[in-house]
Formats: sequence, C-alpha cells, structure tokens
Amino acid sequence: MAPRSDPSSQGLAALLTLSHELGREDRQLAILGEGNTSARLDVDRFMVKASGSNLATLRREDVTTCNAAGLLNVLGAARLSDEAVDRALLGAREDERQKKPSVEAMFHAWLLTLLGVNFVGHTHPVAVNALLCSPHGKTFACRRLFPDEIVCCDVASVYVPYTDPGLKLALAIKRETSAFVRRHQRAPRIILLENHGLIALGATPAAVLAATLMADKAARIFLGAVAAGGPRFLSAVDVARIAGRSDEHHRRRVLGL
Ligand SMILES: [Zn+2]
Repeated sequence: MAPRSDPSSQGLAALLTLSHELGREDRQLAILGEGNTSARLDVDRFMVKASGSNLATLRREDVTTCNAAGLLNVLGAARLSDEAVDRALLGAREDERQKKPSVEAMFHAWLLTLLGVNFVGHTHPVAVNALLCSPHGKTFACRRLFPDEIVCCDVASVYVPYTDPGLKLALAIKRETSAFVRRHQRAPRIILLENHGLIALGATPAAVLAATLMADKAARIFLGAVAAGGPRFLSAVDVARIAGRSDEHHRRRVLGL
C-alpha cells in the first residue's frame, strides 16, 4: 500500500494532464505562474498546485497534498494576519518536504467539499478577463448566448466582486457560491472573479476543461457581439428549456460532464 504522503498516482496523473491542458500557450488561459488546479483525494485530503509553479509544465514535485481541515478552519475565522494564513498553508501539508501550497489553496479546499466536485481549475483567460475588467462582467455571469454554453457552464455563473487574493477572496467565493447552491440546489460550473479570472468546477478533469474552454469561447463571442451592435441573449424561458432537455442531458453524459 502506498504511504499516505504519496498522492494516488491516478489522481495525480489526471491533475497534471488537466494542468497542462489549461496551461497550453495557444489557449491564452494562463501564462507564467498564473492559475492553479486541485483534485479531491478523499473526504479529508486534496492535491493542489504549489505556489509559484507553472501550469503548462507542472511536475509531480510541484503538487502538494493537503489536509483540508486546517484550511477550512481558517475560512471559519473572522480575521487572521497574513502570517497566520501563511502558517496555516504550510501546516496543511501532509508531508512537510512538499512545497508550500498556493495561497488560493484555501478556496480550493472549500470548493472541493461541494457535492459532485472532484476537480477545480483556476485560470486568467484573456477573453474572460476582458469582460471581467469591463462593465459587462456581471451580465456575462447572469446571461447566456448559445445552447452549448448552458450545457458546459450551466444556466448562470457565480459572480464575485473584486477582492484581493488570499483569505478575503476565499471568503467572498464561499459567500457567493453558497448563495448559488441555495438558489439552484447544485454546485456551479463556473465562478467569475471580477478583475481577476475564472474558476471551473467539475466531477472530472474533462468537465473542468470543457467548462473553461466554453466560458472562454462564450467570452470571445460576447466581445464579438458587443462589436457587432450588442449581444442578443437567450431568454430565461429558452435557457430553462435547454437546461432541462433530455438530449442535452445525454450530451453532458457523453462529454463526461
Ligand atoms: Zn488567480
């Protein structure tokens, strides 16, 4: 049996492949040390990209296995100094020979507790950020332009107003995502961070990649529609009908979503 500090090799391979896909230079989703990924191992533990590493070239030694409990406790604290957050991040490592997890490990820990969420991918896509750095960000989160956007990204995305990265951002993500879960009775597929980037959630790496690529495509189409006289959104009735169609459910299953 593998020692507990050795992440399950299957899960690790899936996480590395997802990271390489999200980090591909031609996709313009993340460059340099931007973005991070994580995977749930079991109810207590998850793997997350280490601080400062690169998605496109992520290696086994750039992934840190963390105990979720310590980081979830941090999210329960009203206020913590940067030093205390740093200590919590270092203390969450299952094996202290592993690198320090990304500061965004705090929101990964919480998102991986949601029902049906086993993988999380956070990126800074150029097209999505063009909208999130404009007055159109919230509209992009709330409205839908075409059916495949609904299939891969759900009927709406969570919108998180700008907050500095770190504990404050993790708390804001928890607050806005909880409101979505209460409203829709399921985890979201996409969380949009104003003036920052995108988070995709899913049961499989394929679902995270599909949601990220489709949100990026939707952003490009939105930008094109703005230039072509303004977007014409699907109506709420159309969105609800497409989301409920059995052939769309079938497509989700076939796509591993
Ligand atoms: Zn980020």
